[in-house]
Amino acid sequence: MKRVFIKTYGCQMNNYDSARMMELLEPLGFRPVKGPKEADLIIYNTCHIREKAAEKVYSELGKIRQLKIAKARAGGAIIVAVGGCVAQAEGAEILRRVPFVDLVFGPQSYHRLPELIVRVLSKGGARILETNFPAEPKFDYLPETSAAEGITAFLTVQEGCDKFCSFCVVPYTRGAEYSRPVAQVLTEARHAVGAGAREITLLGQNVNAYHGEGPDGKDWGLGRLIRGLAELPCLDRIRYTTSHPADVDDGLIEAHRDVPQLMPFVHLPVQSGADRILTAMNRRHTADAYRQITDRLRSARSDIALSSDFIVGYPGESEEDFLDTLKLVEKIGFAQAFSFKYSRRPGTPAVSAAGQVPESVKSDRLDVLQRLLKRQQHDFNEACVGKILPVLLEKRGRHDGQLVGRSPYLQSVHVAATAGLGEIVPVKILGAGANSLSGSLAPVS
Ligand code: SF4
Repeated sequence: MKRVFIKTYGCQMNNYDSARMMELLEPLGFRPVKGPKEADLIIYNTCHIREKAAEKVYSELGKIRQLKIAKARAGGAIIVAVGGCVAQAEGAEILRRVPFVDLVFGPQSYHRLPELIVRVLSKGGARILETNFPAEPKFDYLPETSAAEGITAFLTVQEGCDKFCSFCVVPYTRGAEYSRPVAQVLTEARHAVGAGAREITLLGQNVNAYHGEGPDGKDWGLGRLIRGLAELPCLDRIRYTTSHPADVDDGLIEAHRDVPQLMPFVHLPVQSGADRILTAMNRRHTADAYRQITDRLRSARSDIALSSDFIVGYPGESEEDFLDTLKLVEKIGFAQAFSFKYSRRPGTPAVSAAGQVPESVKSDRLDVLQRLLKRQQHDFNEACVGKILPVLLEKRGRHDGQLVGRSPYLQSVHVAATAGLGEIVPVKILGAGANSLSGSLAPVS
């Protein structure tokens, strides 16, 4: 038996990709292990979204150098592979800087992993760089069903992005938008439900740009796909992430109105509340267009909760622009949000943009924005106290007699209960914290 250790960085899509890599490697006799020390194959599935992503990968690689030497001295070998978005962006540089890396492969090439591993093994020392965007979609070459088991499952339905926001590397690392055919998605969803999933989160870099070929030969948007998935027996909850405002169409809004399995929680990044900055970011929507979309979502489903992403201190952002962001946040109200200081991503247009904002100004603005967002999250959580919410119980809590689940609004809920994992139970919310709720089982009405 051969052993593989995969370390995954970044988003849920990378977690999904790592799980699929594991499936691909199993027929070669690989079994997963918990750490690099026990492994014959180490894969770093990297993410390029955070600052200094490449440096973090080099530092991680530095840590296993001794491991590789020790194994070689003992007459063995470890294959070291780097995949994901940093591999795509920095492939040749990784091979140049780290001589013991055997294989570098991009996120669109991992379906070829078994063949690449065999090539590394057979060529006795040949090092491989596989970062071209293949003409064929990798999903056509992956096993038909994912072996992932769990109460909640993630399912990639779309990849890549054609939006080219000026701060983002995704269009360069993941390539052009691609949507999986509906039949493929339904097959994988059926398998996940058969393996125990009650909730599926549809993933895509720009998931609501989904336009997959339906079984009727027509183009299905995300709303229609959600309706198709909602027909699967025992699939109680559907979520999707991450969306772009310009791709929120009538079909998706109507799905929120009509499909009870579609959870009333939408993560819809806006990034800034100032049109000038949105234009500079190449976001393709205005602040008002964003506000109108949130109004339409709320008209379709009154209890919908919103989450968003914000970047403060984008090049050229004035104090007035920043105040526009605060106004937008005040006006819309978010249940949750992620906010960051702008930081340069090599290879993106914004790197060389004029008007870079000083770090101290960025920090001050982020502090103000985060205080406002935290207050809104706190208010949203507090407003849940006293309500009875359906909670999908997902795992055991840290304390005896406690299970942890999720509300429809993606809040973590600590429930006083000992049984019922995998069930959706009514929970009377008794307490609210900054990031979670707590409660006890309520009688089923
Ligand atoms: S829409 Fe999202 S993934 Fe696409 S370029 Fe913009 S930020 Fe990146």
